[in-house]
Amino acid sequence: MIVLSHQDIIELLPPRTAIDVVADAMAATSRGDVELPLRSIMDAGGPNKMGIMPGMMRTPPCHGIKLVSLFPGNVAAGLSSHQGAMVLFESVNGTAVAMMDGGPLTALRTAAASAVATRSLSRPDSTVLAMIGAGEQARNHLHAICVVRNISELRIASRTEASASAFAEYARRHYPHLTIDFGTDIKNAVAGADIVCTVTSSPVPILKGEWISPGTHLNIVGASIPSRREIDDEMVLRSSVFVDFRRSTFAQAGEIVDMIEAKRIGEQHIRAEIGEVLNGTRTGRTDNSQVTLYRSLGIASQDIACAYHCWEQAKVTGRGVNAPL
Ligand code: NDP
Repeated sequence: MIVLSHQDIIELLPPRTAIDVVADAMAATSRGDVELPLRSIMDAGGPNKMGIMPGMMRTPPCHGIKLVSLFPGNVAAGLSSHQGAMVLFESVNGTAVAMMDGGPLTALRTAAASAVATRSLSRPDSTVLAMIGAGEQARNHLHAICVVRNISELRIASRTEASASAFAEYARRHYPHLTIDFGTDIKNAVAGADIVCTVTSSPVPILKGEWISPGTHLNIVGASIPSRREIDDEMVLRSSVFVDFRRSTFAQAGEIVDMIEAKRIGEQHIRAEIGEVLNGTRTGRTDNSQVTLYRSLGIASQDIACAYHCWEQAKVTGRGVNAPL
């Protein structure tokens, strides 16, 4: 069994590669070429949770499980809020062939999925990106979105000026050509933006539908358990909504679950899975004034496909260490 560290994953899975790997995984998911039991979420004391995410893919042939702790207090201690491990099994003998750090894998695959959605749904001439939230996901989303669209202006809004400013500094270092504005005013940041990513840990809506301009594409990423939501009802009502996997959306996407229960929308309000758009079985954006919204929850097939890629590359490059089993 090869064991891969945080740094190994960063080097084996650059954003551009992650986008291609995740696009294939999302297409396979929507063709039904995967087994994807619903993620279970367990209380891990106080505000902490643990997610258990198994899955199986036919191509590449493998299965695996990601075990991920979500400890929101970690950020204050300078650690990622997502800690975890991914175990990958090959499909001939069912042997566990790799174990790897689940933190960077989660961050990279989530941003890659948003980039796949952005490439499929945003207007090709999009240049203005608004990032709501300024943590680990924000940093990864910046890199991934810059791969798929020619971004020239970045607007950052976060809960505190300090973290917005620190993220602006990070963005300036990596993309000196960008015009960057930062602060705490979300309404201002999203006005007229072409692409909006919400990557906050807020449990309650921080984005209102009435603030969004026609033609915008949104990646709504931060709320991954049913008791949380980042957007209000209006945002859902005025958007064409796309998802990673319908079954998990209907079980775990807070605002969708709430609105279906309240009969404000039906399941048909979800236009398509991103994989269906990639496979050509459903249409994506139909005109330049449409508001498109990708509701990300994260699915195990994205993790497993990325883990498989890292394992294959580790064998080629010699990265990682062999566990003496
Ligand atoms: P971090 O803790 O690193 O960052 C969270 C950011 O959200 C911080 O910048 C924080 O601001 C900001 N924030 C919190 N509340 C508000 C608010 N009310 N208004 C504006 N900004 C706010 O977390 P990550 O970046 O690692 O993750 C972000 C979210 O994404 C988490 O909720 C996580 O569970 C989710 N996630 C979703 C995945 C998916 O597949 N969909 C996968 C992985 C994570 P400040 O620093 O100023 O306090």
